[in-house]
Amino acid sequence: MSKESKTKAEALKEKLFAENKNAYEFCTDAEIKKADKYCDGYMKFLNCAKTERESVEKTVEMLKKAGFSPFEYGKKYKAGDKVYLNNRGKALYITVFGKKSLEEGLSIAAAHNDSPRIDLKQCPLYEESGMAFFKTHYYGGIKKYQWVTVPLALHGVMVKENGEIINVCIGEDESDPLFYITDLLPHLGKDQEAKTLGKAFTGENLNILVGSIPYDDEKISEKIKLNILSLLNEKYGVTEEDLVSSELCLVPAAKARDIGFDRSMIGAYGHDDRVCVYPIVTAALEIAKTVPEYTCVTILADKEEIGSEGNTGMQSFAFENMLVEMALNAKANPRKMFENSKCLSADVNAAYDPNYAEVYEARNSSYINKGVALTKFTGARGKSSTNDAHAEYVALVRKIFNKNKVLWQACELGKVDQGGGGTVAMYISKMNVDVIDVGVSVLSMHAPYEVVSKADVYMAHKAFYAFFGRE
Ligand code: MN
Ligand code: MN
Repeated sequence: MSKESKTKAEALKEKLFAENKNAYEFCTDAEIKKADKYCDGYMKFLNCAKTERESVEKTVEMLKKAGFSPFEYGKKYKAGDKVYLNNRGKALYITVFGKKSLEEGLSIAAAHNDSPRIDLKQCPLYEESGMAFFKTHYYGGIKKYQWVTVPLALHGVMVKENGEIINVCIGEDESDPLFYITDLLPHLGKDQEAKTLGKAFTGENLNILVGSIPYDDEKISEKIKLNILSLLNEKYGVTEEDLVSSELCLVPAAKARDIGFDRSMIGAYGHDDRVCVYPIVTAALEIAKTVPEYTCVTILADKEEIGSEGNTGMQSFAFENMLVEMALNAKANPRKMFENSKCLSADVNAAYDPNYAEVYEARNSSYINKGVALTKFTGARGKSSTNDAHAEYVALVRKIFNKNKVLWQACELGKVDQGGGGTVAMYISKMNVDVIDVGVSVLSMHAPYEVVSKADVYMAHKAFYAFFGRE
């Protein structure tokens, strides 16, 4: 083959092949620096937003600082107005009003605030063999073996009969105590090792070690439990019955840290789905400095990890109610508004992991450092429980990303017969909105400590900003 024809072939290949570039080849040095700096902000956010309540609280703080105000029923809003609706401290809907009529549709980006964790049962406290424990009930899809012998922090609220809310956060400050789930020593692990992973660790075994000092009284029974309750009463003024109206959970106490010699990745608890929450919120804050063409709406949903149920989950009417209210007050037809709306469902995807190559299909997997993952369909097996975005909409999103130099990759989650997963996409599509999944690829998804690439986090922010700014 002559040198010339090879060059022609090369040119042809370049023209015809879809190439998945690496962010470090795709971005300028200045942009990589920008990505690093952007991720410093993300890591700070992660450390103070480990639960859905904390994520909403922190986001509202950022919104207020930027001049957003609470959404009011019955009020007619105009272009440039910026509001938020806080749904019970657990879900948040943010709107930046654009120039076009609401009937021309909205640009919606939806992430979720909640992450897998270990919740307390409502009657948690007991003592056994000289130790006090909390009974737990895990939240979301966890591999139970990953949560034993990990330093844990206690987060949440206790609500007294009189309505007083007590915020709890123990284990985040260096001087705080931590909490812990024990595991068997290998020396006595013969039977345990013979069990399958799913059977060796049970939900009822995930009990939290919370104390061991008996109350100083000779005759009284349950001395250690009494001592713990006495400490809680001293600090918070609560009794055992107050725990019934509490939402307390254990989350990993570890802070977000750089991963690798080159510091290109971030290890943290709760990337799923704060790694989309932060990029969307910062994109909303940025677009609010302008007056966008389309009205931009951000959803931070709750309860995605348990099926998007409940009135703060994506299946609730709360979000739809707000949008209908907005349309009616603007004398716009809400049905037309929904029909013309476009949404990016912002959730994580499984990054290809060569250590477990057998469960991935390499040609249709997402890879770290290759930009935002564009997922036409989620679900399992024969595409059950998926929204499956229309090709026409995929083309539009592609166009927006390419025009704005957003690095993206098309993928699905794992091999066809291996399993699967869902996101909020299908619930938003039920409102007659066009939806596609766009998010960040994560290594060790749902583990107490997950890993993402910094370049991908920054690219997600760029993607959502480009989408909000569409013309
Ligand atoms: Mn998720
Ligand atoms: Mn998840």
